[in-house]
Amino acid sequence: MSAASAQHGTPILSTRHLIGVAGLSVAEITALLDLAEEYVEVSRQRRKLELLKGRTQINLFFEPSTRTQSSFELAGKRLGADVLNMSVGTSSVAKGETLLDTAQTLNAMNPDLLVVRHQHSGAAELLAQKVSCAVINAGDGWHEHPTQALLDALTIRRHKGRFEHVVIAICGDIRHSRVARSNILLLARMGAQVRIIAPSTLLPPNAARLGVEVFTSMEEGLPGADVVMMLRLQKERMDGAFIPSEREYYRFWGLNEQRLALAKEDAIVMHPGPMNRGVEIDSVVADGPRSVIREQVEMGVAVRMAVIDALARNLTREAAA
Ligand code: ASP
Repeated sequence: MSAASAQHGTPILSTRHLIGVAGLSVAEITALLDLAEEYVEVSRQRRKLELLKGRTQINLFFEPSTRTQSSFELAGKRLGADVLNMSVGTSSVAKGETLLDTAQTLNAMNPDLLVVRHQHSGAAELLAQKVSCAVINAGDGWHEHPTQALLDALTIRRHKGRFEHVVIAICGDIRHSRVARSNILLLARMGAQVRIIAPSTLLPPNAARLGVEVFTSMEEGLPGADVVMMLRLQKERMDGAFIPSEREYYRFWGLNEQRLALAKEDAIVMHPGPMNRGVEIDSVVADGPRSVIREQVEMGVAVRMAVIDALARNLTREAAA
């Protein structure tokens, strides 16, 4: 299917919003990744489509973001939408307006899509109940970051060709990470063998019930891994001392060349960014031949184009019904 035929494409998502990967089926995830694969080409050719001509997308970011916000902006524009970035720092939110007041104000402008990032888990879901447009969760607290998991899955599929029996080690601050949560849900659903590796203080309280293998040492968890996904220490979400010191953390859980050598010879290295070099990952590895970190950013635009397109198809169908 070409991007042109995607214009008249069949529905991909059964839901009006994308709040998390928890509700996505294998078929929906596969269809999104297939569509994103087409958009990789559109993006590389810097083509601008008109699929979303006349539609308005508002990006509402209550937390700082570099990659996610800019790639949502680019994705919407490449599909032909009018894209508006709401800078929360300079908006009425800074004057004390609540999330719901802001939502109602934006709703009155009749957007078609609202992309939201918020520091509280559940904020995207709450917004989705209050506005009449489609909502995409661009990260809510510790809860989910569905488009990150989808772009990570696309990157893995491009390198490994499949998910079944692929061993994926997610390492670092799992406890505070929405990226880890969405990835565990998505990758396990697709048949991958997921491991988490972290000091016990950075494991989530429900680690044993996640359906993943749990390790507290890199030396034990890395052998046999096809994918090594490193996570940032989410210091902004820590309300106490979870690690003795960053130096100590790097010594035991940082990914350096020696540790990477424990994984499979063709293992790829991933990181959602932003990276703390010298804390969770050594620059030699982050910039080395097995790193696909920059490719992840490229896949981010394609995946977000696919998600926006899929939700817009549902809006079109709804309007026609
Ligand atoms: N950018 C990712 C997120 O928003 C990961 C991180 O911040 O460490 O969750």
